[in-house]
Amino acid sequence: MIITIDGPAGAGKGTVAQFLAQKYNLKKLDTGMLYRALAKAVLEAQIDVSTQQEKIIQLAQQVTIDATEQEGLRKEEVANLASIVAIIPDVRTILNQIQRDFAHANPHPYWGVILDGRDIGTVICPEADCKIFLTASSEVRAMRRNQQIGGTPHHHHEISKIMIERDMRDQNRRVAPLSAAENAYTIDTTYLTINEVCSRAAYYIDQVYLKNKNSSSIGA
Ligand code: C5P
Repeated sequence: MIITIDGPAGAGKGTVAQFLAQKYNLKKLDTGMLYRALAKAVLEAQIDVSTQQEKIIQLAQQVTIDATEQEGLRKEEVANLASIVAIIPDVRTILNQIQRDFAHANPHPYWGVILDGRDIGTVICPEADCKIFLTASSEVRAMRRNQQIGGTPHHHHEISKIMIERDMRDQNRRVAPLSAAENAYTIDTTYLTINEVCSRAAYYIDQVYLKNKNSSSIGA
């Protein structure tokens, strides 16, 4: 079972993926953390992103799943740079392989895998069993992100500005821009509670499971 969750920053992907991973015993990968791990390495090496792409590509080759567990990846500065290095096609080719290997490795003792990101349903796992795309208004997403980082209302405007810039980069890049797969279930989370979003996502997974089960027993 492969489940994908895509969507812009602050749409609720992380929380929903965590809920579904627990509910269905799925092995989880937050693919944004791979880009963030690379961004952190780029910051630490003080690489100039506009002139030293080769160095960034070399660092991308050193990114591993374990690197996604390190501290310091949640900072907005890291997220912002992640969306800049994510534009480089060679970086994506390298990180795509890690994600595909994860998706297709034997998940035992898990029931399957769940990956969340921007291009999982479209590029990484187009064959996924159930694809979910989360959206929400940029206002609400900025508010949630501000709450998450414990910012004051005063920070809201700044967070909102940075988030919109990041969305623009993610939606407009040439390779693998953020978009919903044709066969994705889209949930607009703007006016929903997190429990409502989680139940709706679980409902879609149950539907897909029942459909697969019925079609395999018909063919048997
Ligand atoms: O999901 P998160 O906000 O942690 O991702 C950080 C950045 O990494 C995103 O803004 C996006 O540019 C990039 N990313 C990507 N493809 C993915 C996951 C993340 O381009 N599958």
